[in-house]
Amino acid sequence: MLLFNQLAGYTVGIDLGVNYILGVLTDLQGNIYFEKQVNFTALTYEEILEELYTVIDLLISTAPTSHYGIIGIGVGVPGVVDSDKKILLAPNLNWRNVDLRSLLEQKYHLPVIIENEANAGAYGEKKFGAGKYFNNIIYVSVGVGLGVGLILNGELYRGNNGFSGEFGHMTIEVDGAKCSCGNQGCWELYASEKSLMLDAKRSGLEIDPDNLTLETITDLATMGDADAIQLFERTGKYLGVGINNIINIFNPELVIIGNRMAKAENWLTKPLNYFIHEQTLWFSQKDLKIDFSTLLTYSTCLGVAAFSVEGFLRKHIYSDSIAKLN
Ligand SMILES: [Zn+2]
Repeated sequence: MLLFNQLAGYTVGIDLGVNYILGVLTDLQGNIYFEKQVNFTALTYEEILEELYTVIDLLISTAPTSHYGIIGIGVGVPGVVDSDKKILLAPNLNWRNVDLRSLLEQKYHLPVIIENEANAGAYGEKKFGAGKYFNNIIYVSVGVGLGVGLILNGELYRGNNGFSGEFGHMTIEVDGAKCSCGNQGCWELYASEKSLMLDAKRSGLEIDPDNLTLETITDLATMGDADAIQLFERTGKYLGVGINNIINIFNPELVIIGNRMAKAENWLTKPLNYFIHEQTLWFSQKDLKIDFSTLLTYSTCLGVAAFSVEGFLRKHIYSDSIAKLN
């Protein structure tokens, strides 16, 4: 067994969200040393890059002195990433064909990993979170959009070209609303933070529209506000409908609901479990566990950080030890 000094280097893990950037600096075993979050609305591509650079610069500047220094940067993005790690489409950011990896590699002269945020989140949960002891996991990342990461037989499943898990864009309502992906009736239009906000505006919830966030709605629900609770119940119901379809396809051991919406666990659990219990084929329900993320919003950061460390170990440590053995 190979043991290594976890403080021999540090890595930067970034969750580039639709309206925030969350970055962490971790050691080689995923312990968080420093974190920084910035929130924004409607920034241009260039402005988001500036924010991203600022967060990365800050995280790098906080790293303690170590043998290898910063070993790499990992970024989880809310979009489709191809096997060359190019971002083909991030509909909620309105990005197409962005080669973020080359940009960051040129700027920082470090190895850079770009990964779909739900894939990274699934990996984070498998490594450090609720999925640690499971091998067939469906990780449902419910943020502004909705993505799914699949751990099948213990490995992250990326599909032929890296596009797997785009369940947020599976059709849930045949004559449903138009989605930014070009399709209509997509799951993420009914079971995401984005849809919750739209529903909340329509419902006349007693929150100043400028102050309407997932947090203010959970605050209302905590105080027992029936309208706020009903909004979460609707989200839970649609989450259940989509998850039911996925369970019937993959027969997982564990479904993890993660990302920001996991904060609403109290109100989502009942409608979610009800729909899965009522609609999932009975044999698929055997040995099935539905859980909420314990890493909450950190799944993606920790997942990309772990990818970054593994890339480094493959390149430096394993090859060194194999050279020594020879
Ligand atoms: Zn869509």
